[in-house]
Amino acid sequence: MCTTTTDTLEIHAKLLPLEHQIQNLSYQAALCLASHPTSHPLHAPVQRAAKRFVMRHKSSLHHLFHASELDMESVETITHSRRPPSAISPYSINIANSREQAVVNHDLNEDKYKVYCDGSGIDDMIGATAVLYRRGRPQPCILHYHLGSADAHTVYEAEAVGLTLAARLLALEDDLTYPISIYVDNQATIKSGDMLSTKSGHYLIDNFRSSIKQLKKDSKDHNFKITIHWISGHDSEPATEIPMQGSVAQQPISTEAQRQESCARWARQWMKSPRYARTIRLDPHLTAARKSFTSLVQHLPKRHISLLLWLRTRHISLNQHLYRIGKSITPSCPHCVNTLEMVQHYLLICPQYV
Ligand SMILES: [Zn+2]
Repeated sequence: MCTTTTDTLEIHAKLLPLEHQIQNLSYQAALCLASHPTSHPLHAPVQRAAKRFVMRHKSSLHHLFHASELDMESVETITHSRRPPSAISPYSINIANSREQAVVNHDLNEDKYKVYCDGSGIDDMIGATAVLYRRGRPQPCILHYHLGSADAHTVYEAEAVGLTLAARLLALEDDLTYPISIYVDNQATIKSGDMLSTKSGHYLIDNFRSSIKQLKKDSKDHNFKITIHWISGHDSEPATEIPMQGSVAQQPISTEAQRQESCARWARQWMKSPRYARTIRLDPHLTAARKSFTSLVQHLPKRHISLLLWLRTRHISLNQHLYRIGKSITPSCPHCVNTLEMVQHYLLICPQYV
């Protein structure tokens, strides 16, 4: 109904209030422009605009970067092409059909070298680790790397860094015997190595590919074979987290992490608004950052979604609401004596409709 407040409609549609929506979109546009490689035609004008907010003749780029306060140098570069389509992967991948099958395959694997890598976030910090086991050597070799805070990096990046650490551990070994197995618990990371599209964090997987290529080049072994296996992590027992050590690495910040953080930042600002307190009374789980309502109604036709929204917001053609806006002479139910015709009564109590 046209009497429903815009705030309430926007939050149901998973939209922030307009001013926050514009700020969010501006920041994301700046982030996208900042991640262009040097070969991109916009790279030079963007660099100039971000460097200084000129006094006269300000362009849209000047306003955009002044408003976003984005540090250009810290943003990762997303290239437009990763490699020729004909390039052959230096490693093979093996993804089992099920968790159980992955464990069986792992137990049957008799490779001399096995490397396990993982990336995760703990206490809003992101880190990666890789552990190399060599048959006959009791002590494993371990490398770990602290990427930084969760608002600048993603777990996907950490998984990719874990693979690079695995390649580094292999490069440190003197007499490698092939085949070698690397185990990862994230299928998206494994598959992204073969993709040609460029997205946030892909440069880390490309680094891993380069490391394995170099390993292949340096190896004199004709049986060179490295396979990345998927194995389900954190299944039967809690994982033993290796404490992160060392200083925070100077990794460029992830555009994806910044995009998520930007959405969350404006959603947090919206939550401080008094309008939010009024809107949230309808449903405490309903926030602009969540898509609880949109996912609930995604398979319904539009007229049913409208009806649901009217019922949730109580702005519906029942006498209680119509009386409030001066369109009915009484707020009572026409079928029940001295009873307000409200949503709860209409749906659950009124003998005329139940
Ligand atoms: Zn009634």
